[in-house]
Amino acid sequence: MMVRSKALLLLAAALLPFQPQAFARAPKATKPAPVAAAAPAIPAGRPAPRLLVAIAVDQFSADLFAQYRSHFVAGLARLSGGMAFPAGYQSHAATETCPGHSTILTGMRPAHTGIIANTWIDQSVGRDKKAVYCAEDETRQAADPKDYVASVDHLLVPTLGERMKAQWSASRNVAVSGKDRGALMMGGHKIDQVYWWKGKGFATLEGRTLSPEAVAENSSLAEVLGAGAPGFTLPAWCGAQDRAIALNTGAAAAGGIGIANSMAGGAAPAPTAFSVGTGRFVLAAGDANAFRTSPRLDRATLDLATELVDSMKLGKGAAPDMLSVSLSATDYIGHATGTEGAEMCIQMQQLDLALGDFFKALDDRGLDYAVVLTADHGGFDLPERLHEQALPSAERAAPALLPEQISAAVAAKLNLDPKGLVLGDGAFGDFWVKRDLSAEDKARVVAEAKALLMAQPQVQAVFTAAELAAAPMPSGSPETWSLLDRARASFYAPRSGDFVVILKRGVVPIVRPMPGIVATHGSAWDYDRRVPILFWRAGMTPFEQPSAVETVDIAPSLAALIGLKAPAGTFDGKCLDLDAGPGTTCGVTN
Ligand SMILES: [Zn+2]
Repeated sequence: MMVRSKALLLLAAALLPFQPQAFARAPKATKPAPVAAAAPAIPAGRPAPRLLVAIAVDQFSADLFAQYRSHFVAGLARLSGGMAFPAGYQSHAATETCPGHSTILTGMRPAHTGIIANTWIDQSVGRDKKAVYCAEDETRQAADPKDYVASVDHLLVPTLGERMKAQWSASRNVAVSGKDRGALMMGGHKIDQVYWWKGKGFATLEGRTLSPEAVAENSSLAEVLGAGAPGFTLPAWCGAQDRAIALNTGAAAAGGIGIANSMAGGAAPAPTAFSVGTGRFVLAAGDANAFRTSPRLDRATLDLATELVDSMKLGKGAAPDMLSVSLSATDYIGHATGTEGAEMCIQMQQLDLALGDFFKALDDRGLDYAVVLTADHGGFDLPERLHEQALPSAERAAPALLPEQISAAVAAKLNLDPKGLVLGDGAFGDFWVKRDLSAEDKARVVAEAKALLMAQPQVQAVFTAAELAAAPMPSGSPETWSLLDRARASFYAPRSGDFVVILKRGVVPIVRPMPGIVATHGSAWDYDRRVPILFWRAGMTPFEQPSAVETVDIAPSLAALIGLKAPAGTFDGKCLDLDAGPGTTCGVTN
């Protein structure tokens, strides 16, 4: 877990010159290529890129991309004019951050990455809290009892950066994110440097020390936080969205607040009136939460990424390097204010500008890099605004869908103890039955819970673990997958629930809105599954391909672009040919 020293990296680079066939600039005519069967991985005469930059914009749905595409003028305009796949899919049902990030650079579905959700219940864990976070090591106790030890141990497969390091020992694998799970699920286990935003600055894995660049970035951010900052100017084209939506948290009642994605924040607060839709991201001095939920977080993440490009000389080594960047502000803003307010409109503009500056910085350094940008999942607006904008069917999930209430109803029917009978992480998704029941009682609980839930008007489907285990892994276009197919792609038997609940389209699994959490994602519906997938490299002929592709196609596509050897079965996805002409970029792996 120690940081590999720069001196060792330089030594390795010097000792292991990087000369696979795919990178040879001009093979000598007199000497045949040693691997005659392999087609060129890249357009003739063009060396492979020296740096891969994979960017995940958290909660950047295909809908947001389509809505704002004509307004992009900087980084996102550049990518829009590259090899653009506007109908990408995070194909699986559990469209949460951790599973979504786990597909992007592994090329594998959550059923194979093992990252079935942000949080799952493991009743065998040797601690009181049985909820396990996807990016923690639950076998270790953090120094602060309220904290956890960040880890990528739950990810079952290697990432592209790890595969590159396995093929070329000089390859560097670096990840930066606004969230630990974003950086860790894209970076993987063997990672040279990894940073994520934590509270008031960037942090790294336990046992590692912050690089001087991260220390410097943190100290400059501390100044911004300490001083505060004015809000952002509303672009003229955001005017129609600048409209307040009044919300109320409702009375604090027994039963807690059902929210998905591990965002439960303890006891229910007193009723509070608040509104969303007209924010400008004014930063009050010292308000770290406001910093996080603003375009400033993405800019800080990209700044640190640029500093690491310089300090590690990424893209200038003896082998191609991997830089993963996960930008979290879009997601925090989406949860706090929804997708259709002035806040998201400002964020889209600022994201575009920040990415433009980042790409310009890479250009200025003379790097030959290839970019892919996608998202870990899509998103959905808040029901209160959807009602005003022609979607009256949108609604918040009923408290009856929460695990405590399911437990009570099932226990009453079967005459069992309700305490911890059915466990879960919110009003939908995976649910687990108390493990010390007899097999017979467990089966009765699953059957009764399924019957009760199917009678609920907001429930679309309930699949048991047995049904999912018996289902084949889906194939074909993700837009035609059944709900069972989608749930199957999220199913990994050792971690998945005893049954999975899929809510009807338009049901938002936040029982009551609260400041900071009014809207969400996570459903099996296309507003949460569809994401843009945008590739770009200088000099490549752009094209648009509107047919459905998948985020698991990204890793095989990038692998082929750099000549990484990947035997059949390495990926769930397929290589996308990024050459617009008769040539192919898929020569090596396909
Ligand atoms: Zn996310």
